[in-house]
Amino acid sequence: MSHVIGLKCRECGTEYPAGIQNTCYECFGPLEVNYDWDYISDHISKEKIAAGPKSIWRYADMLPLETEKRIDLGAGFNKLHRAERLGAALGLDELYILDESVNPTNSFKDRVTSVAISKALEFDVKAVGCASTGNLAAAVGAHAAKAGLPAYIFIPATIELGKIVQMLIYGPNVIAVEGTYDDANRLASEVADSHPDWAFVNINIRPYYTEGSKTLAYETAEQLNWQVPDHVVAPLASGALLCAISRGYKELERVGLVDKADFKISGSQPLNCSPISTAVQNNSEVIPVRNFETVAHSLAIGNPADGYYAKKTILDSGGFAASPTDPEIIDAIHLLARTEGIFTEPAGGTTVAGLRKLVESGHIRKDERVVVYVTGNGLKAQDTLLKSLQRPPVIKPMISEFERLFAPKLDIHEQKAAIAI
Ligand SMILES: *Cc1c(COP(=O)(O)O)cnc(C)c1O
Ligand SMILES: [Zn+2]
Repeated sequence: MSHVIGLKCRECGTEYPAGIQNTCYECFGPLEVNYDWDYISDHISKEKIAAGPKSIWRYADMLPLETEKRIDLGAGFNKLHRAERLGAALGLDELYILDESVNPTNSFKDRVTSVAISKALEFDVKAVGCASTGNLAAAVGAHAAKAGLPAYIFIPATIELGKIVQMLIYGPNVIAVEGTYDDANRLASEVADSHPDWAFVNINIRPYYTEGSKTLAYETAEQLNWQVPDHVVAPLASGALLCAISRGYKELERVGLVDKADFKISGSQPLNCSPISTAVQNNSEVIPVRNFETVAHSLAIGNPADGYYAKKTILDSGGFAASPTDPEIIDAIHLLARTEGIFTEPAGGTTVAGLRKLVESGHIRKDERVVVYVTGNGLKAQDTLLKSLQRPPVIKPMISEFERLFAPKLDIHEQKAAIAI
């Protein structure tokens, strides 16, 4: 007996054994992991979770591994911050931030990768790979290094320098492709097809990969004393993350860890590349976009694999979607850092800017308990952010020089008032 039955088509329900496969042979629909939920309900408890590892693997009973062979660099178990100052700035009574910038490679992609590469080891593959907008590349590089597997990583050539440095350090084969993420992804899919014993985490073993993100919902509920928030806000690229968070909350209700999973879920995408947000706003089809340019490189996917399901998940929940501009995204990075002490990359800026817009438009109410997922670290995007900051003044090491710059500006009462803003 195991908690994993195999794979199942999301569209027609055809079942398959667990293997390296991501589409249904009958209808070409996407596959997802097929769990035995009755078995899981009987074997899971809050106490067992509390006694588990301080990583996503505390929720192993709801993850698709069938052995204990885990590649665990410590992804997950991150702090849910009560964000009083950002909440006040945006006009929200009860706001929380789940901060993913502190994962082993500084983005939420460590969750999905830890699950996918552990599963790849169960399949005894010869190599792993991915197509990436940058963060997945670092996560795959690090987890492949820990697993002792060669890695093949396909990226668009134009992503941030900080991300390229970070992925290279782990020693994978990095292939920079002329074009967008969608071009890199197409090439990676062809390589996956011609190497059946290689596991591409977000392509041919995608059903297991997306499971890692559900732990964001589990972790949020656990830190809220096993309650589900009223409204959650997540960034959108392929849409997989948002769908997985939503699924995670519903599964907690299914296994009895929360009484009720009654929540709205909203998304945010940069205006310059916003196929899913546009579809939500117009209640229309997800139309792929080409030739886009945005500071939010990790969200720049023109043809989102889970776009249809993300749109449906958002609208079915009663949520909505925002599409902030690049300057709004940069402003939100500053706002988050200056109110909460959390430094995020433009993906996180997109989410916080989206949150702001959704509050302003009334889609998120002041009295809702809101959780926002900040998915990546600002140190990865220094080249983008430096342009929005003033370099520090350079002075001689003399007090008079300091006083000339700072002291006369404010008396002590004014300084205190300024800090309180
Ligand atoms: C990949 C990524 C996302 C979006 O993930 P999808 O599952 O493709 O929607 C969000 N934020 C960051 C920082 C990412 O790296
Ligand atoms: Zn099918």
